[in-house]
Amino acid sequence: MLLPGATLGMLGGGQLGRMFTIAARNLGYKVIVLEPDTGSPAGQLADEHIIAAYDDAEALVKLGNQCDVITTEFENIPAEVLNKLTEYCPVFPSASAVEKAQDRIVEKEFILSCGLLPVPYGVINTNSDIANAVKGITFPAILKTARFGYDGKGQQTINSVDEVEAAFKETGQVSCVLEQRIDLDCEVSVILGRNEQGETQCFPVAENIHRDGILYQTLAPARVDDNIANAAQAAAQRMADKLDYVGVMAVEFFVTKKGELLVNEMAPRTHNSGHFTLDACVTSQFEQQVRMVCGLPFGDSRLLSPVVMTNMLGDLWGSGANTQPHWDKLLENPSTKLHLYGKKEARAGRKMGHYCTLADDLTSAQQQADKIFNQLP
Ligand code: ADP
Ligand code: MG
Repeated sequence: MLLPGATLGMLGGGQLGRMFTIAARNLGYKVIVLEPDTGSPAGQLADEHIIAAYDDAEALVKLGNQCDVITTEFENIPAEVLNKLTEYCPVFPSASAVEKAQDRIVEKEFILSCGLLPVPYGVINTNSDIANAVKGITFPAILKTARFGYDGKGQQTINSVDEVEAAFKETGQVSCVLEQRIDLDCEVSVILGRNEQGETQCFPVAENIHRDGILYQTLAPARVDDNIANAAQAAAQRMADKLDYVGVMAVEFFVTKKGELLVNEMAPRTHNSGHFTLDACVTSQFEQQVRMVCGLPFGDSRLLSPVVMTNMLGDLWGSGANTQPHWDKLLENPSTKLHLYGKKEARAGRKMGHYCTLADDLTSAQQQADKIFNQLP
């Protein structure tokens, strides 16, 4: 067990790393962040920020020598980097678990191997795969690059077979999956912690509302029946077990209009849809990550109040002059908690911060959250 005073390494300097750093430092740990960007959200708050590429050999030696354990906030850390670091100290999650989430083709095969249902899909590596990939797919569909997609990036809507080839060309002919577009009842996600002994603890199932492929709001608890909620938690747990996962991970699901539960994707890290835990659960997902990688007991994942988490993208900031949103409108609501990530520049679609609105019921929390959102710009 690594107790307070130990040094934790974080690969990645974004907001997930920042909130991990806050949780870890609150508990008395030291944090060293490896991140190429200067002034990154996590680097600003860490005890030390190593400014170097994730695969910089010298930086990895420096990080490895100083840390008691290393974790990540970013799924695209190369597997070789995670493996290399295990020569110095434990690294959670493992390279083999992270790798499964880096490529949509590998991920969907993994979902199937767990006996779970991915979204119906076909694989396209070359033009000659298209004929086969469209079999079993009813249009409209979505073409997604297999690697490096996030916040809806790398995705194109496809309305007929004829459009596939041009869209594939548009990707630069990198490996892709062609997915059936699902008629969604809703989207839910499960965040869980898993320790080295193989025990897991799930946070309450959350419901996610996306706008233009980017998360807008998370509602907890999800407004789904218990069967769906239990099935989602069981599915996420099965995936974590099969990966022999250590740390915090997230699984995103689609609930179809027919009431089917499909696995969309997983993230080998804390997740945007788990930010509600910061203000509404006994333990946040970030503290749970600290606890899991340090071998501490689980923190209580109980939800204390209905909550709506709302993302704030750079679009809410004025253009050009970089004016700030109307914070006074948000701060006058006593049950809303503001979290800003310290990003210097606001850009359209860039996650700048979020807020959590707590109320006795979800309807009221959502009404208040939406009202704030409309007053911010
Ligand atoms: P990202 O890695 O960008 O999060 P996702 O595959 O999760 O990629 O897609 C982002 C969002 O786009 C989803 O949460 C969902 O709202 C929508 N979406 C993606 N794929 C589908 C699909 N096959 N059917 C319906 N909606 C989808
Ligand atoms: Mg997603």
